[in-house]
Order: sequence, then structure tokens, then C-alpha cells
Amino acid sequence: MTITQQDVELSELARGFLSREVHYLFIDGERVPAVSGNTLSTSAPSTGEVLARFSSGDSSDVDLAVAAARRAFKGEWSTWTPYQRQALLIRVAQVLDERFEELAQIEALDMGSPISRVRNSKQGLMRMLSFFAAQALSISGETLTNGIPGNVSTMTLKAPVGVIGGIIPWNGPLNSQFWIIGAVLASGCTTVLKPAQYASLSVLRVAEILHEAGVPAGVLNVVTGRGSEAGTALAAHTDVDRVAFTGSTETGQKIIEASTSNIKKLQLELGGKSADIICADANLDKAVPAAAMGVFANSGQVCYAGTRVLVQRSVVDQFTERLLEYMTTLRVGHSLDSAATLGPVISESQLDTVLSYVDVGVSEGAELLYGGERLGAGGGYYMQPTVFGSVTNQMRIAREEIFGPVLSIIPFDDIEDAIEIANDSDFGLGGAVWSENLSTALRVVQGVHTGTMWVNCYGYIDPLVGFSGTKLSGYGAKGTAAHMDTYLYTKSVYIQL
Ligand code: NAD
Repeated sequence: MTITQQDVELSELARGFLSREVHYLFIDGERVPAVSGNTLSTSAPSTGEVLARFSSGDSSDVDLAVAAARRAFKGEWSTWTPYQRQALLIRVAQVLDERFEELAQIEALDMGSPISRVRNSKQGLMRMLSFFAAQALSISGETLTNGIPGNVSTMTLKAPVGVIGGIIPWNGPLNSQFWIIGAVLASGCTTVLKPAQYASLSVLRVAEILHEAGVPAGVLNVVTGRGSEAGTALAAHTDVDRVAFTGSTETGQKIIEASTSNIKKLQLELGGKSADIICADANLDKAVPAAAMGVFANSGQVCYAGTRVLVQRSVVDQFTERLLEYMTTLRVGHSLDSAATLGPVISESQLDTVLSYVDVGVSEGAELLYGGERLGAGGGYYMQPTVFGSVTNQMRIAREEIFGPVLSIIPFDDIEDAIEIANDSDFGLGGAVWSENLSTALRVVQGVHTGTMWVNCYGYIDPLVGFSGTKLSGYGAKGTAAHMDTYLYTKSVYIQL
């Protein structure tokens, strides 16, 4: 397997942005250096070369950003009507539609996701913005009856929670930030975003573009930097009302501890080890490529990746043979190769982690059927997409989130056995079942303890339907009215007439 090369030429806008000497923080509508003057660099995963330098914010910068967000929350923004906030979201969608290619190129270079995948995500982003634009007009309380003697009217009001700390991971910040920005703009909250240090650039660029599009100063602020500095400061800040966090379970646990400072509300979208269950009667023409891409999309750096592929014993050989055939069609390449199906992983250390899991799998007795090695002679962080057979659910490669392109085939005997294996996990994020029999499929859907299940497909997400986790995968819905509700609080009102 060879690594394919870049064929997409950077647009002038993307080149201009990337040529900046330092990418500053974005606070109160301005690009500002970190108070300390410190910077960090980020490398392009496709080449390993330094792509950009950016400000390394710490608690002083978080203080300034939270103060700006608080001023904006109390200021003119609080007088905007739902119609004005909806019009702003529609304008944001128009501007992003026009500027998407520039943003996609920045994202692909910064985090290594193939450009075709980032381009394809545009539809999902547009759906998300339409969803939040609609939500802006759907915020309402209730008029309630009561048992109080006398003439007392009662109702509930919904009000924006306040300043939201948004802490996001590196595996797709261009789109994932809009779960927060969309809800903030629809609800009348304000936010300070802290992107991951390995992929901050699309978040900084979006903040500037949205400010130009009319998002008022202070409503959307970005503090880049280390999780241990900017992240911890934001999570613990006593003037932050709520934290929306997406990232690892380990960091999520620290966010919960930090939230006690002022009893912050939390939404936590954490890790996963999802089971993709292939029954004997599955349509393998569809199940094989979908199960493969359910793991290898974004080089396995997807929280809901179906990394435990549970296959009914009677079709394991057939499934495996067809999967190995499919593997030869995958194309690993530079994130700006328009035909690449897999890019590199995010960093040298992530590559080392993934390779160490390959060693763990082999030492535990799993059968390495495909891949397992670094690709190329250094430079980019490329990994061969990897398949293990004869995996048991007790092996570490079946229990721990690898966050790389590693698929494990785990045989099962019957549906109840599959459900038991699927549930024997600390996580509960995604999962799927493949069967031509509706009763079988529904039995599995009902039996698996997880936040999201797909039937005869993998990975669809629509804000109207939502997506969430359970167990160590976190809590708090993404999408649906429940998502908006967490950016609002309810006030009970009693009126003596
Ligand atoms: P991570 O937990 O290391 O970092 C996530 C973010 O938290 C980053 O911005 C980081 O700088 C910050 N951070 C780190 N330590 C912190 C601390 N002590 N206090 C506050 N902030 C801190 O995760 P990652 O490596 O960037 O991303 C990969 C993880 O994210 C995987 O576990 C993956 O499953 C998960 N993820 C989950 C979802 C989901 O929706 N469930 C989506 C994407 C990624």
C-alpha cells in the first residue's frame, strides 16, 4: 500500500489565512495575542511539517474571554428577538455555504481528514444550521393550572442559561463546534470555545467569518491552547454557567469535578467502543463496506466508530473474506488528495498509541489479518487500516477506545449472545445491527444498552433525531429540542391577581 499525494490546490483565501505568522485568540470581536505572549505550533498530519503557530491561552485569557462573553450576554444581544436570532443563523448558513471550501481545506490540512470527507460533511452542517434557526423560534414556556386557593395564575418561562464554555476535540472541529454555536445563537447565550491544541484553525477562522457575518462582539470567543491550561481554566471558571464538552471519558471525569466550583450544568459527549452486529441473514453486499467505513472513516478517529464488529459464527469466514477484499480498495493518502478514503491520524503520539494497541492485540492472541504497520518513511502520520480476527470481548483491543483505524472481528453464536457481548462494555455510544429480519433487528435495538442504534446502516446523524451516549459515553442529547433545553433554564412564575 502506498501513500497517495496532494492534488487539491489551496484556495487563495485558505493560503492567505494559513500564511499568518501567528493565529491569535478571538476575544470580543478582535484577534488578540495571549496575555503571556506564548504560542504553540501545529503540524499537518499529512506531512508532519509545521502548519501554523497559534496563541497558547491560559487562565488570564480565559478570564478576559469569559468577561467579554458575560458583557455580551447582558448587553444588546439580550434584547435581540427570536426573529433576529433566526435571521442571524440563516445569514451564518449562507456565509458558510459560500466559504465552505476554504474552511474544508483548512480543516483537512490541520486535522488530516480526507478533503472529500470534509466536503461531504457540508450537507450535515447546513442541516444543523437549519435546525438551530428553527429552534430560535421554538423557545416557549407553559401556562399551567394550579391548586393554590385564590386567584393565582401560573406559568413557566424559558431563559438562556448564560455563558457556555465549549470544549471540543480534534477529530472534526469544523462541524462539531456548531452543536454549540448553533444552540448559543438560537438561545441567546454566549460562548467561549476551547478547541483542541492539535486542530484549532477551523474554529478560529469560523469565529472571524461569523463576526463579519454579524455575530456581535463577545457572543462567540475562542481561546486556543493546552487542555491543561486554557481547558482547565474554562472548566473551573465560576462565571461560566454551563460546559458543553466533547472528548475523552478521562477528561470528561475531570470536567465533572471542575463543575462543582459553581454547580455548572454539563453536557458530556465522551468516548465509545460501539458494537456493529452482523447477523447471519445480513445483506453482506451492504454490510461489509459499511462496517469497514464505520471504523476506517476519519482513520478511526470517530467517537461512535463501530470498532467491535460482532459477526454470527456461521458467516464469519464469508464476512472476513469479503472484508479483506474490500480492504484492498481503500486508498490512504494526503488529506488534500481528492480521492483518498483515509488520511493520516492526528499526531505522531496518536500513531504510537494505535501501533501499541496492535502489539497488544497480537500478544493477547488476536489474529492480525490485515495491516498493522506504519505507512511511509516518516513525515506524515500514516497507518495501515488494520483488521484483527478471532478477537474475544475480554481482550484490551475490544475494551479500550483505540481511536485509530483498527477493526476487531468478534464471533457470536445467537442474537442473545450478541446482545450480551455488545453490552459487556464500559461505553454506550453507538451501535448497529444488520439483518433482513425486522424482528431480529428490533430485538437487538431493544437489547443493546447504548445511546444510538443504526439498523442496516451506520453513522447517520440528523439534529431532528439526535445523538447521545450513556454509561461512560456521557450524557446530554445532541440534537432534538432536548439539546436546546440545556441552553435554557426554566423559571416558574406565580402571579397573584
Ligand atoms: P481529550 O479529552 O483529550 O480533549 C478534548 C478537549 O478537552 C480538548 O480541547 C482538550 O484540550 C481539552 N482538555 C484536555 N484536558 C482538559 C482538562 N483537564 N480540562 C478541560 N479541558 C481539557 O480528547 P481528544 O483526544 O481531543 O479527542 C478524542 C476523544 O474525544 C475520544 O475519546 C473520542 O471518543 C471523543 N469524542 C467524542 C465525541 C462524542 O460525540 N461522543 C465526538 C468526538 C470525539
